[in-house]
Amino acid sequence: MSNSSTTLSVVVPLYCEEEQVRKLYLSLETYIQGQVDSWELILVDDGSTDNTWGEIQTLSHTSSNLRAIRLSRNFGKESALCAGLEAARGDAILVLDGDLQHPPSLIPDMIRIWKEKGVNIVEAVKEDRGKESFVNKCCSSLFYGLFSRFSGFDLRGASDFKLIDRQVRDAWLKMGERNLFFRGMIAWLGFRREPIPFAVEERADGKSRWSTRKLIRLALTGFTSFSGAFLRLPSVLGVFFFISAVILGIDALYMKFSGKAVSGFTTVILLLLIIGSLLLICLGIIGEYLARIYEEVKGRPRYIIREKLDNDE
Ligand code: UDP
Ligand code: MG
Repeated sequence: MSNSSTTLSVVVPLYCEEEQVRKLYLSLETYIQGQVDSWELILVDDGSTDNTWGEIQTLSHTSSNLRAIRLSRNFGKESALCAGLEAARGDAILVLDGDLQHPPSLIPDMIRIWKEKGVNIVEAVKEDRGKESFVNKCCSSLFYGLFSRFSGFDLRGASDFKLIDRQVRDAWLKMGERNLFFRGMIAWLGFRREPIPFAVEERADGKSRWSTRKLIRLALTGFTSFSGAFLRLPSVLGVFFFISAVILGIDALYMKFSGKAVSGFTTVILLLLIIGSLLLICLGIIGEYLARIYEEVKGRPRYIIREKLDNDE
């Protein structure tokens, strides 16, 4: 692998990152030059509403190894990543965020590990999650806790900052689902992997491009596509409530026949409320899985390309 000439493709999804485009390119150039024989940068503009595409076009006049894809609207980071991976031609593909929270200074070490250890995946693992709100920290640790318990893949500390070889990229692209969860899917693929710790940098403009709604959607996608555990929840609750019902029923009959009146309506109201809300939650869970099956069955493309920039074509 290391004897022949190596090409590295760097894939970066961008959503409203006009400020970062040039900084990102210069920083990548600093750390990648000399580490591989050649490299290309694939920027995917995920339907930005600011001047990100304009900045990319300007940059392409001076950077011959820059290729770019502009999606027709905001499809979300995972779909943008997919567009970039499909376009990548390198022997290895490096995936990182465009906001410089994934420090490019780690890249030489990642390339060295890939070449020297002959692994398929070098994954940067968050040692320190950087500045994050308390609620964010709690929600992500709850999600990753549940995810590892039910899916069997421990993604704690995992990030999308990864170097993968061509074999992994090809295998990933063969996974046909529309609901994408990049880091989970890479974990599912297996292959030889090596972690490398890093500390998440602070975001230059401080504002994440992930809205709470998008994050909840990704968490649900991750969970529903990796575990059917929630679908079994109604059966578990059903058994629990059946046992309680038998005990309560015997108690009620005993009270009736021994002449003591069953105590007021409180019990009935409470039971109605509990069972009613549990039934709705269970229906909602089934709906969540059904919605995803529906999206998969429609078989729509994962993204639509509006235009491309390719200096080679
Ligand atoms: N991103 C994207 N599409 C989106 C949201 C985000 O391509 O709909 C990109 C964003 O421009 C950045 C990367 O995904 O390069 C990570 O996003 P962000 O930094 O906002 O996420 P966080 O660091 O908060 O997890
Ligand atoms: Mg970020």
